[in-house]
Amino acid sequence: MNPQELFLSELKRLEESKTYKYETPLQSPQGGVVKVRGKKVIMLASNNYLGMSNHPKIRKAAADGIRKYGFGVASVRFLCGTQTIHLDLEKQISKFVGAEDTILFSSCFAANEGFFASLTNEKLGYETYKDVIYSDRLNHASIIDGQRLCRAETTDKKIYEHVNMEHLEKLLEEDRNKDYRFRIIATDGVFSMEGDLAPLPKLVQLARRYGALLFVDDSHAIGVCGKSGRGTPEHFNVLGQIDVLTGTLGKAIGGASGGYISGSKALIAYLRQKSRPYTFSNSLPPAIVEACKASFKLLSTDKSLVRRLHENTAYFRREIQRLGFRILESTHPIVAIMLGEASVAQDMSAALLKEGVYIKGLWFPVVPRGEARLRAQISAALTRKDLDRALEAFAKVGTAMGVV
Ligand SMILES: *Cc1c(COP(=O)(O)O)cnc(C)c1O
Repeated sequence: MNPQELFLSELKRLEESKTYKYETPLQSPQGGVVKVRGKKVIMLASNNYLGMSNHPKIRKAAADGIRKYGFGVASVRFLCGTQTIHLDLEKQISKFVGAEDTILFSSCFAANEGFFASLTNEKLGYETYKDVIYSDRLNHASIIDGQRLCRAETTDKKIYEHVNMEHLEKLLEEDRNKDYRFRIIATDGVFSMEGDLAPLPKLVQLARRYGALLFVDDSHAIGVCGKSGRGTPEHFNVLGQIDVLTGTLGKAIGGASGGYISGSKALIAYLRQKSRPYTFSNSLPPAIVEACKASFKLLSTDKSLVRRLHENTAYFRREIQRLGFRILESTHPIVAIMLGEASVAQDMSAALLKEGVYIKGLWFPVVPRGEARLRAQISAALTRKDLDRALEAFAKVGTAMGVV
């Protein structure tokens, strides 16, 4: 077979295995209500948790960013791609999450990809050494790929069962007397398929007890979790106690793009020297930097956005259960509505779009077989009326399909 035929046969296989990813294009900005195929629909599938994606203040800041600092900087950071606004944003993030310092990346994927190898592949004065990474089974693809870049000869990689602290402790205990240089525990702050939170207090405790660095990716939590949106460390009252905190600017914080790592001054200074996606990839454009600065400022001054997100989430979680749907327990705006079979999730997502609700399903192999689900993501951009209209559609479609 030639390459084109191989691609086509793989596409055919994907389509038949029901893992084909269909894109449903929007004809409008992101928001609580969007336009799809000429029709207004309620958006329940976006990471636009705070409605910053099309917020007037954020749009204005982005436009001002272009006006004052141009469209692009045409350089990586260490050549001539650092503008004062990049340093301002880094300071602002540090202050917001309670860390000493912060380094920006073009995405959180790049941040995670850059982190692990920049520590483990460097000798740092050792001739021979071994590091070990303990990783939650459901960690994000970028954390997994980041660890793939660590050399097998010098890095042991161990997977612990999802949020299972007994299992993690057992692995740490087994390695207690081994002569490791770095021990790193890596977890998502919020897991995107279930909407559950990593048990940070226990993770902090275990990291301390076993001399490990704690790495937390708070992409789904920054701007979302905690009273003022500072993330899972605020939610669990362990602000400032996470050694390595990464996150995205592409979800609640405006939804454009960008990522960061926050940590100690020494770690961040070290990453500026050693992290390859930082050294060899372009600087964030001024429009995004200025918009993200405005976004963090808005978060710090206007508490109503996070409050509305939390109220909307509690309301939707309560009402969808009242309709008879089974959801995974959590407090996060990611609401996993459990349906079982992949075909049910697929049909229901299509039927809901017809009823004016945009929501996506997840099924094997993204989630375990027989645990297909719809994933609703609640936003502060949704009004109570939007939520009620969506719930009505759920009731109608759920009843027609015999799900409730
Ligand atoms: C979304 C997400 C990312 C990727 O963030 P980008 O900035 O879009 O690259 C990384 N980690 C987690 C846990 C995420 O949810």
